[in-house]
Amino acid sequence: MAPRILLVVLDGIGDRPWKGATALQAARKPFLDRLVREGVSGLVDPVAPGVKVGSATGHLALLGYDPYQYYTGRGPFEAAGVGIGLRPGDIAFRCNFATLRGGLVVDRRAGRIRETRELEEAVNRGVRVSGGVELVFRAGTGHRGALMLRGAGLDPRVSPTDPKREGVPVSSSEPLDPAAASTARALNEFTEQAMAILSEHPVNRRRESEGKNPAGAILSRGAGVVPVIPPFADRYHMRGAAVAATALVAGIGRLCGLEFLSTPGLTGGVDSPLEKKMETVRRALGEYDFVMVNIKGADEASHDGKWEEKVGFIERLDGALDSLPLSPDLVVAVTGDHSSPVAWKDHSGDPVPLVLWGEGVRRDGVQRFDEVSCARGGLGRLRGLDVMPLLLDLAGRSEKYGE
Ligand code: ZN
Ligand code: ZN
Repeated sequence: MAPRILLVVLDGIGDRPWKGATALQAARKPFLDRLVREGVSGLVDPVAPGVKVGSATGHLALLGYDPYQYYTGRGPFEAAGVGIGLRPGDIAFRCNFATLRGGLVVDRRAGRIRETRELEEAVNRGVRVSGGVELVFRAGTGHRGALMLRGAGLDPRVSPTDPKREGVPVSSSEPLDPAAASTARALNEFTEQAMAILSEHPVNRRRESEGKNPAGAILSRGAGVVPVIPPFADRYHMRGAAVAATALVAGIGRLCGLEFLSTPGLTGGVDSPLEKKMETVRRALGEYDFVMVNIKGADEASHDGKWEEKVGFIERLDGALDSLPLSPDLVVAVTGDHSSPVAWKDHSGDPVPLVLWGEGVRRDGVQRFDEVSCARGGLGRLRGLDVMPLLLDLAGRSEKYGE
């Protein structure tokens, strides 16, 4: 049987030098360096050189799905991630609970509320929008959630109700194209009815009495139409699974046809229990031909501007990866979905390092897994879309082109 394939995506791993070295260059990471010594390395532009990508577009490209074709906005991926059953053509938004005072948004995270399940149920039970539009709202982790609208003649070209700042009212959604008028109307009806339901809800009354910010509104943004994505199994003739902490990556996996395997207790932050996540990965490798695992913490540290924290997290994830069952029936790639320079507290268009490890790989003499060492590797410089074909070929799973 052909080897199984493991794609490890270190979120936001790439960086620029800070105090003379990138976090990867500074970190002690014997396992990743061993993979590089025994493997072949290179640099990957997740989408194209200099293009600053988000996690969704970066992961789509690494899975071999051209984001310019399949990325229709963040909403559908978030909605799939929180478990809404979607069909192509549905319109989806990412949402958050927010606190209102005197008609103004005063806290876009509603005091980082956690107890949202009852609020979700009340909203789904109570909201009825006109025009025969079906609706599902689902709460995610913390203050986050997603909304799906389903019906004839819907169009994602609407402005968000999330004003994206505090001290102003909830925005009214406007159609950005005449064809989207009924979608904007449905979104506004949802938003207004949800506010009426939430303002009366016992969970919020209790929060008020405890001095906590109530969740008085649901703000929506990231509108997108659910795309038609060719299923992973049809495309690659492999059964695939995804392991991740964030709803976004779970949703990308699900919309591409990967089975999402949850791990209790993951946080997506630098404190996430990586050993537990690796247990899920090892179990998945026993059952699936392909496993993608996203490890999020380095991106969090970057967004917080914490270089030492990023270095420390890389050292911890290296220790967790050391539990992987390296053997001749496994092919491994380790790379990132984009760079996230600590100095920027944001993503950048810099390429990320890549290493491929597996039986038959042409070792290139590179010694360390970092942005500068891997630039001298045998794979040269690639795009995210090149990673799956390389993995398939290394694993002996590629199809011959021509006779
Ligand atoms: Zn990312
Ligand atoms: Zn990020």
